Amino acid sequence: MIPASFEYVAAATLGEAFGLLKKHPDAKILAGGHSLIPMMKFRVAQPALLIDINKVPDLAYIKEDAKWLKIGALTRESEFENSALIRDKYHLLADAAKMIADPLVRNMATVGGNLAHADPANDHPAVMLAYDAVVVVSGAKGTREVPITKFFTGPFTPDIAHDEILTEIRIPLRKAGDGGCYLKIERKVGDYATAAVGVFVRLGAKGVCEYAGIGLTNLGLMPIKATAACKVLMGGPLSDAKIREAAQLASEAAEPTSDWRGTEEYKRALVKTLTVRALKQAALRAAA
Ligand SMILES: Cc1cc2nc3c(=O)[nH]c(=O)nc-3n(C[C@H](O)[C@H](O)[C@H](O)COP(=O)(O)OP(=O)(O)OC[C@H]3O[C@@H](n4cnc5c(N)ncnc54)[C@H](O)[C@@H]3O)c2cc1C
Repeated sequence: MIPASFEYVAAATLGEAFGLLKKHPDAKILAGGHSLIPMMKFRVAQPALLIDINKVPDLAYIKEDAKWLKIGALTRESEFENSALIRDKYHLLADAAKMIADPLVRNMATVGGNLAHADPANDHPAVMLAYDAVVVVSGAKGTREVPITKFFTGPFTPDIAHDEILTEIRIPLRKAGDGGCYLKIERKVGDYATAAVGVFVRLGAKGVCEYAGIGLTNLGLMPIKATAACKVLMGGPLSDAKIREAAQLASEAAEPTSDWRGTEEYKRALVKTLTVRALKQAALRAAA
């Protein structure tokens, strides 16, 4: 439980962090530290240098502009819990943030670290897949906007080059008719999901579903967007029959394995039930 030895630098600016990353191929960014430090203690990760970005200014914010809800990468989970904007308008994100780990972890863990770690058991990947979010990745040469559907390129592998840093997440601005919900089954409070489902819908005139996003947590080697289930919901009202069909398709999109959290069959059944419940709750919120 003792990490291998490493050097530590607290970067004062993004530019300094980019420079250090370029110079040290065996360096790692340190944000909240609640995934990286445990991995270092188990010696699964042995970076020679930690580049702490917690002192870099202007990386923690939650703000709306004309098109997006913009979230700085260093925003802590507890900041979502305490934000009236998130609580009132971005229900899917609000639901998920308060189910991540425990209050102590949430005071440190960052949304940028949660996504950059690309752990299929983390809750934000499914949330951002459901929202169809955009991730902003920055480097010495400028910034790139990566659609979340292209961001996870393999297990624990995000589309971030070694000398780049995830700086912002963009979620489509809340409109009338938007509703979201995140439901998670965990063995005990604070645990990673046995299975979790994140749902976001945008309902137009006469309740017609213009957009539906469904993300699945801890149900495969990578975060999963249940694309076929989303498609079946779009173009008509969210009838009970459509919701049941989508739930079946979502459970088929899951790729669970049997483990100490439950059997494959149990997890697929959870996806089906959680998808029905989350869609119904999201539709209620969209109509409110
Ligand atoms: C007891 C416990 C329970 C937990 N339960 C849950 C849970 O239920 N759900 C859940 O989602 N998570 C859970 N977590 C994980 C927690 O949310 C992590 O802190 C989070 O996943 C990583 O965020 P971090 O800021 O701590 O990142 P760090 O641990 O600092 O970094 C994680 C990885 O991302 C990289 N990184 C971090 N920030 C950036 C960036 N801006 N740009 C590029 N790379 C970056 C780091 O180099 C590292 O490789 C739990 C953690 C603990 C300790």
